[in-house]
Amino acid sequence: SIKDVNIASISPMMQHYVKTKEEYKDCILFYRLGDFYEMFFEDAEIVSKELELTLTGKDCGMSERAPMCGIPFHAAEVYLNRLISKGYKVAICEQMEDPKQTKGIVRREVIRVVTPGTTLNTQALDETKNNYIMSVVYVSNRFGIAIADITTGVFMVTEVDEIRKLLDEIYKFSPAELVCNEAFTMSGIEIDELKNRLNISLSALDNWYFDDDLCARTLKEHFHVGTLEGLGLKDYNCAVIAAGALFTYLLETQKNSMEHLRQITPYSTDKYMLIDSSTRRNLELTETMREKVKRGSLLWVLDKTKTAMGARMMRSFIEQPLIDEGEINARLDAVEEINCHEMDREEIREYLSPVYDMERLISRVSYQSANPRDLISFKSSISMIPYIRQLLSQFQCEELQKVYEEMDDLQDLYQLLEASIVDEPPLAMKEGGIIKEGYQEDIDHFREAKTKGKVWLAELEAEEKEKTGIRTLKIKYNKVFGYYLEVTNSFKDMVPDYYTRKQTLTNAERYITPRLKELEDMILGAEDKLYALEYEAFVSIRTKIAAEVERIQKTARAIAKLDAYASLALVASRNQFVRPKINTKGVIDIKNGRHPVVEKMISNDMFIPNDTYLDNGKNRVAVITGPNMAGKSTYMRQSALIVLMAQIGSFVPAEKANIGIVDRIFTRVGASDDLASGQSTFMVEMTEVANILRNATSKSLLILDEIGRGTSTFDGLSIAWAVIEHISNTRILGAKTLFATHYHELTELEGKLAGVNNYCIAVKERGDDIVFLRKIVKGGADKSYGIQVAKLAGVPNSVIERAKELVEELVSADITATVKNIASENKKQKTKPAVHFDEVDMEQISLFDTVKDDDVIEELKSIQLDELRPVDALNILYRLQNKL
Ligand code: ADP
Repeated sequence: SIKDVNIASISPMMQHYVKTKEEYKDCILFYRLGDFYEMFFEDAEIVSKELELTLTGKDCGMSERAPMCGIPFHAAEVYLNRLISKGYKVAICEQMEDPKQTKGIVRREVIRVVTPGTTLNTQALDETKNNYIMSVVYVSNRFGIAIADITTGVFMVTEVDEIRKLLDEIYKFSPAELVCNEAFTMSGIEIDELKNRLNISLSALDNWYFDDDLCARTLKEHFHVGTLEGLGLKDYNCAVIAAGALFTYLLETQKNSMEHLRQITPYSTDKYMLIDSSTRRNLELTETMREKVKRGSLLWVLDKTKTAMGARMMRSFIEQPLIDEGEINARLDAVEEINCHEMDREEIREYLSPVYDMERLISRVSYQSANPRDLISFKSSISMIPYIRQLLSQFQCEELQKVYEEMDDLQDLYQLLEASIVDEPPLAMKEGGIIKEGYQEDIDHFREAKTKGKVWLAELEAEEKEKTGIRTLKIKYNKVFGYYLEVTNSFKDMVPDYYTRKQTLTNAERYITPRLKELEDMILGAEDKLYALEYEAFVSIRTKIAAEVERIQKTARAIAKLDAYASLALVASRNQFVRPKINTKGVIDIKNGRHPVVEKMISNDMFIPNDTYLDNGKNRVAVITGPNMAGKSTYMRQSALIVLMAQIGSFVPAEKANIGIVDRIFTRVGASDDLASGQSTFMVEMTEVANILRNATSKSLLILDEIGRGTSTFDGLSIAWAVIEHISNTRILGAKTLFATHYHELTELEGKLAGVNNYCIAVKERGDDIVFLRKIVKGGADKSYGIQVAKLAGVPNSVIERAKELVEELVSADITATVKNIASENKKQKTKPAVHFDEVDMEQISLFDTVKDDDVIEELKSIQLDELRPVDALNILYRLQNKL
């Protein structure tokens, strides 16, 4: 282990290694040694295991050899990315001087630390997603949050006061890396769960990062302002600490001034619809629940963007639906106007198509890692902007005019690049061939000298052939000897005495002459100078572009928005979506709505549209019954998705829609996919119900599917019942709710609880079979048709027949009558004030207790005594006793 190393006994280089490793304890240290990056000790063990590389050893003066593992320098990128994607941080320690020209040990320094949230490798990153790094601090009972994407220059801050809201933000951005203060890890957050769920790299930074003064000073210096007020951060004390610490962390790891983070944007979490993590998953907003792929998600339907920037914008629209009527309408106006000009829309999309990822490109320019080809991609991108702006200028609505104004045509940069860089530059930056003729005089001069030298060489070759009569004489070049004259053995005797022999091969001899040497000096000299000058010119052009980072980022964002609007417009017209009306009265009125994803998944025009009507008065809670497979959950999700789509500014799949803005959408849907986390399904279900009941408001939309399924019938029914009472009571909650259940006993609540209405999904009986009509109608389902569905699914006939018999028996036990009793008890309670709600619960439970006794008698009656083993009898007795 590196801890056991006796510093005095090891070589100077290893001493430096150990010292450097000490400074970068939480990183894997890539230590450059010639053509390799070497790792030693524990690092070597980790890397050899993770990357399946051979572990060797290095003798460094200890009793045992130190474990060692190496990666060839030219393939480092691939290995680096693999380590990063596994959540490791890697510190890269380079040779800072040429070993050939150094006496003693080479100076080495860490030039950058690459972490999951700070990787710039565009090949390893998904271009349609941001790669966020988040910093969270827990200070005086509040959470300060800062979020950055260094590949695009996004930098945002906010504050929240509850763990739940913090988690909502974390899930919303789903960062690749999270840094935090010590206090955060002790704030009650389930750190391990967070790490596992999000596959996040999480580390607590030392306390000095979070020093108030240091943080404020760092931000003020970077953004060149005198006060934090100037940045709009007056009321963001905790966020300033999160942002300052994140900034320091970026400076420390990137060893770069972060010039491309030009803006810090404070935002309020109330500006967006609140969607918790399970609802994000349940509604399959950006990926499907099971396969975790885009196909089959809402994003898949809506994203027809042409650029990577547009794709990221679309994703963020979906991740953060709006709640301000004006902002929603502004987006809808933009989509509508583009939609009305189909030709322009298609033309705009065509011009967007070749536009490169300018946001990530400008970050690489700022990092001085962009190559000449990147600049050419940039040039071809900006060459499209004038055409895009031309089309954009015709649009009237405010939002599109704003986009027009924010979009700079960047023609000064276009001209600079057009004049300076050749159209197809090489990848290598230090071998010339980058700069165009006529851009810089001295470059032209040396290039001419180089070309001229080559002409003279050709002339010299002809001349020498002539003079000596050696027909096969050739002037050639290699890196070791430079230029030489080559004479094959058969002509060796004809070589004149002013030739100096340099090298003898088996079938030829190589010579130089004073004139050849002279030409060589001239050519090579010119070449060296030319390459150096070209590189210098390229760097200066890149620096000029870097200076315009703010304009370029703004333009890139305008392009992203336009791309997103054009995509929404296209999707609307292709799929017959309509513009929703937006209201703030809480009325949700959807005529013939469809599920945007399911309708694409099933064959043409087979989707049956349905209406949804909810308001704050008589239609708050819809209790939806109907057999399994009838289409209950499709219907509920479609209603939620239509509301969400409206609030991102999209048209919606319906004939007509009027959407009352909701502040939050909560869902509790079907079987949970949380089994892996070790909690029982029922426990997960109840935790989610608890979360919903505690955090929903009267302006929220709730989608509850089969609440209470995970436990015994009576418990489940009672819980579902009590939940509906809680939700429908305006003095307690009064949220708009779609509630699907297979307990058709719950239909008794209509007319007894204000605002609750029954709906069911129609089915037709045809003899013993049922046909799904997929149509939602008023009224409750009278039967659950469970047996028919089981038959459809192919359950053996003998089982179906037996089930039918059992149903008869159970119905005669008349559970329904008992439930009806409770419902009318409930009606009497209605006049009582809401604070006595708990008493109602108690009474119900005692009523159910009598039902349980009946249950015991029923079970006793049904026991087939002559088939029973004694041990089974004991078990049954034990169970029955427990029920009493
Ligand atoms: P439930 O929640 O009642 O068990 P689902 O909503 O899961 O039923 O629907 C079952 C299947 O029926 C879905 O997979 C879908 O393909 C189909 N379906 C649902 N609603 C419709 C509809 N309105 N039109 C056509 N097919 C539908």
